[in-house]
Amino acid sequence: MPVGVLMRPEGVKAHVGIIGGSGLYDPGIVEEPVEVRVHTPYGHPSDFIIVGKVRGIPVAFLPRHGRGHRLPPHMINYRANIYALKALGVKWVISVSAVGSLREDYKPGDFVVPDQFIDMTKNRRHYTFYDGPVTVHVSMADPFCEDLRQKIIEATKALGYPVHERGTYICIEGPRFSTRAESRVWKEVFKADIIGMTLVPEVNLACEAQLCYATLAMITDYDVWAERPVTAEEVEKVMKQNIERARKVLYELIPKLAGEPEEAKCSCCRALDYAVV
Ligand SMILES: [Zn+2]
Repeated sequence: MPVGVLMRPEGVKAHVGIIGGSGLYDPGIVEEPVEVRVHTPYGHPSDFIIVGKVRGIPVAFLPRHGRGHRLPPHMINYRANIYALKALGVKWVISVSAVGSLREDYKPGDFVVPDQFIDMTKNRRHYTFYDGPVTVHVSMADPFCEDLRQKIIEATKALGYPVHERGTYICIEGPRFSTRAESRVWKEVFKADIIGMTLVPEVNLACEAQLCYATLAMITDYDVWAERPVTAEEVEKVMKQNIERARKVLYELIPKLAGEPEEAKCSCCRALDYAVV
């Protein structure tokens, strides 16, 4: 558990950032943890950031919803979260996220490392760091860091966990879930594979910040298209297993991120080269 609170992050550095989703409020694998409060021009991040080491690698962990799940998806200060990780010197960002499944063969308890997303949020969020006079149009053709995606897939496979190597994540506004009609549209018309409420604008902002960002999505249940009612008990059981496994994936993965991102393998760190107008 965290041992102290630093009010000033000067001198505190991290190399790998982890943004924890629902259920993951403390990774439980951080050695010598210190809680850091980071102030940003965009306000406060979701919570104190836990900075420490995982197998010798300096990491920064931030629970996306705040501890105790205080912040619903539409109230998360995504800009402050990404800014704070960047300010700590983070190069890689692993985003852990609980999702629903839109496919029969993407089962509860499976992992997905998405390679595409569809944004169905409703313009109540801040999607960019650049509100003018500088305008930025970053490429979102391949929104995730391919190098980091492959490393997440390898770590998950090494542990023998079921993982889908591709997937389209549809991000809805929430906080409500989809209607049956909406869920069928996401599945049958949009051909999305998984559904959640927090990927956008986190991924866009990570790109603008030129961070290597990818998502480890954990399927909690089938979305409502499946017409398969589940009990809260079942969902909780899957969530618990997912979180335990996610911790093990992080523990396996983080040493593989010791180096700097290589320009040959991804273009994340050059995302602004042709984007600034
Ligand atoms: Zn990258």
